[in-house]
Amino acid sequence: MDKPAIGIVGCAGRMGRLMAELILARDDCRLAGGTERPGSEPVGQDLGTLAGGPPIGTVVGDDPAALFAASDVVLDFTSPGASVAHVELAANAGCAHLIGTTGLDRDALAAIRKAAERTAILQAANTSLGVNLLLALVEQAAAKLSESYDIEVLEMHHRHKVDAPSGTALALGEAAARGRGVALQDKADWARHGQTGARESGQIGFAVLRGGDVAGDHSVIFAAEGERVELGHRASSRAVFAQGAVAAGLWLAGKPAGLYAMRDVLEL
Ligand code: NAD
Repeated sequence: MDKPAIGIVGCAGRMGRLMAELILARDDCRLAGGTERPGSEPVGQDLGTLAGGPPIGTVVGDDPAALFAASDVVLDFTSPGASVAHVELAANAGCAHLIGTTGLDRDALAAIRKAAERTAILQAANTSLGVNLLLALVEQAAAKLSESYDIEVLEMHHRHKVDAPSGTALALGEAAARGRGVALQDKADWARHGQTGARESGQIGFAVLRGGDVAGDHSVIFAAEGERVELGHRASSRAVFAQGAVAAGLWLAGKPAGLYAMRDVLEL
């Protein structure tokens, strides 16, 4: 494959614009196009202008099937409903599909697994190198530290975020549970309020903060009698997710059908 063609669904979103800007600045790939919701304001606008640069003569479309057919890989940071619809289009077109959308429920994840039998799909709640390294470290720490270390996952994001806890916080909880050899759904304590009683041993607690323009702060705390181990990551700019997504998209283009993760890209 010479210069892979990268499409972006949801190209007018915060992540969509950043990824378009990065792709346009690279010379090892090309922007196949971008789509937005039919009838929405960005449809028909020049993609280059939307990404903060000069016009490129390609406008935002509203036909995702055509975009999947014209791309080697499509980057998808939209909404859970849209990503589930897109995954079917990716499988039909045999186009690689990177899904960064968070808030995916069990049915959405099942639809992704099914479509991955027909095309290459990478699903990642967080595309930054640092967070993916953190996931590996948390799994390792949870495997080494006994249940006398209480695990708490803490996250903070900007005021516009619509799902909670963040996909990354959930992935960190899953990593901790995997390290402990337990299932997260059996151990998660999602929120505390009022007369909660004492903390149950072995639980994995979550706390969520929202405000301002925070790009994404995560920490995992292992608290025992007499000491506390804290592993954390702070993203100071969303660009780190966009860079990771474009790099992972290029890695995914042309791969055989299957469900991939960032740890495959980063060889963690
Ligand atoms: P955003 O609201 O700025 O952008 C989403 C865009 O998708 C919007 O422009 C919206 O119009 C568009 N969209 C929705 N449905 C569509 C459809 N059917 N067809 C075409 N476009 C459609 O949000 P954002 O901050 O860019 O985040 C988007 C998603 O990515 C969220 O789920 C967020 O949590 C997730 N996210 C993931 C990472 C990561 O590293 N994986 C990083 C940042 C954000």
